[in-house]
Amino acid sequence: MVPAASSPAGPAGAAAKLRKTRLVGPHISETPITFGNLWQHINKLNITLIVLVPLLGVWAAFYTPLRTLTLCWAVLYYFWTGLGITAGYHRLWAHTSYSARLPLKIFLAALGGGAVEGSIRWWSRDHRAHHRYTDTDKDPYSVRKGLLYSHVGWMILKQNPKRIGRTDISDLNEDPVVVWQHKNYLAVVIFMGLVFPSFVSGLGWGDWVGGFVYAGILRIFFVQQATFCVNSLAHWLGDQPFDDRNSPRDHVITALVTLGEGYHNFHHEFPSDYRNAIEWHQYDPTKWTIWIWKQLGLAYDLKQFRQNEIEKGRLQQQQKKLDRKRATLDWGVPLEQLPVMEFEDYQEQARNGRALVLVAGVVHDISSFINDHPGGKAMINSGIGKDATAIFNGGVYNHSNAAHNLLSNFRVAVIRGGCEVEIWKQASKENKDVDAALDSNNQRIVRAGNQVTRIAEPIAAAPAS
Ligand SMILES: [Zn+2]
Ligand SMILES: [Zn+2]
Repeated sequence: MVPAASSPAGPAGAAAKLRKTRLVGPHISETPITFGNLWQHINKLNITLIVLVPLLGVWAAFYTPLRTLTLCWAVLYYFWTGLGITAGYHRLWAHTSYSARLPLKIFLAALGGGAVEGSIRWWSRDHRAHHRYTDTDKDPYSVRKGLLYSHVGWMILKQNPKRIGRTDISDLNEDPVVVWQHKNYLAVVIFMGLVFPSFVSGLGWGDWVGGFVYAGILRIFFVQQATFCVNSLAHWLGDQPFDDRNSPRDHVITALVTLGEGYHNFHHEFPSDYRNAIEWHQYDPTKWTIWIWKQLGLAYDLKQFRQNEIEKGRLQQQQKKLDRKRATLDWGVPLEQLPVMEFEDYQEQARNGRALVLVAGVVHDISSFINDHPGGKAMINSGIGKDATAIFNGGVYNHSNAAHNLLSNFRVAVIRGGCEVEIWKQASKENKDVDAALDSNNQRIVRAGNQVTRIAEPIAAAPAS
C-alpha cells in the first residue's frame, strides 16, 4: 500500500530506490570513509536538499532585495513550518502525545512537508528508533557518533537501513493523512516548501522572487537547522534533571532554537507527554499552541504524566547526585574496619601521652585537633583517657552536628569491655552509622544527628570530683 515501506528514504523519500540497485557486498556505510570512496558514502539527494540548495539561496539573496513584508512572512512561515515538525511530526505522530481532528492533521502534514525533512512516516519511524535505541548503534542519529553526525551527518552520509532499530509504525500506516503525505511527498514539498510561500508574497505584495528566496529556500534552511538541533544540541548541551544514563539534556538555548523542544531530558523520560517544558516559565511554544488548539476543539486527549511520577524521577536523579557528592567526602574510617581496643589499653596509651578520647565506645586520636578546639585546650584535654561520652553529649557542652562529623575523622579504634560497648550496641540499635543505610555507591548514609558518637538523650554529667 505504501511505497518503500521500510526504506531509509532521505528527506525527499527516494534514497531507497538508489539502494535497491545494491545487491551484494557490505553496505557502503560499513566501509571506512576515504578520499576515494567519499562520493559513494554521500547521500546525493540529501546533500542537495540540506547543503547545496541553501547555498544557492545564499547566493541568490545577494541579488534579491529583502523587503520588510517578505521578511515578516518568512519569519511567520518559519514558525508555522517549524510547528509542523514539532507539534505535528514529533508530538502528534511520532509520540501520539495528543489527538488531532482531521483539519488540524491536514494542516500539520502540509506545514511539516514545507519544512523539507522527509515524510511523516519516514521521520516518525526514525524518531521512534531514536527513542527506543537512544545512543546505541541502532539510534539513527546517535550523538555518540559526534555532534555533527547527530545534526546532519546521519543524513548526508548514507546509512545502512538494516542497522537502524526496528519500530512499530502500524498506527501511522493506518492514518490516511500520513499515507497520503508519504505517497505524494514530492508534490507536498515543492508546493508547501517553495510554491506556496512564493505565492503569498507574490500575490500579496508583488515580491515573487523574494518570497521564493527568503520565505522559501532560506526559510527551509533555517527550519531544518533549528529542528536538527533537537537531535544534536539537545543531546549535548544542558542539565539532566531526570536521568543521566543517556545523553538527552535540558537547556533553554535549545528550547529557544527548537520551538520548545529543548527540555529533552524530560522528553526522553516522558515521551508521550504533550509537553516538553513542565514549568510555566519555560519556553515551549509548541505546548502552548497545542493547548490553544485544544481550546479551539482541534486537538483533544492531551497526554500528561502524573506530577507524582515526574517528581519521583527528579528525586531519584537528585539522590544519585547526592550519592556522588557523598562519595567525595571523608566520613572517617568505617567502624567495622577499626581495630578493637581493650579499655585498659586505651587508658594506658592515654596515660603515656597519646591524645585519645573515648566517645560512645569509639576511640578518637585528637592530637591534631587539640590546638584548634573551639572550647579551648584545657577542656579537650580533660576528656583524654576517660569515657567522654557524657562530656561530649551535653555534660559539659552539647556538641554540634559538625563537631560529631569532625570527630568521626579522628576514629582509630572501637573499645571492648565495660559499658562503652553497650553504648556502641545501643547506637547500632538506634540505626546510627554503625549499620546505616547504604547509598547507590555503597557509601554509608550518615544523617545529621545520627552519628555514632551522638547520644539522643544527653547523658547527665558525673558530679565533679
Ligand atoms: Zn532525543
Ligand atoms: Zn521525541
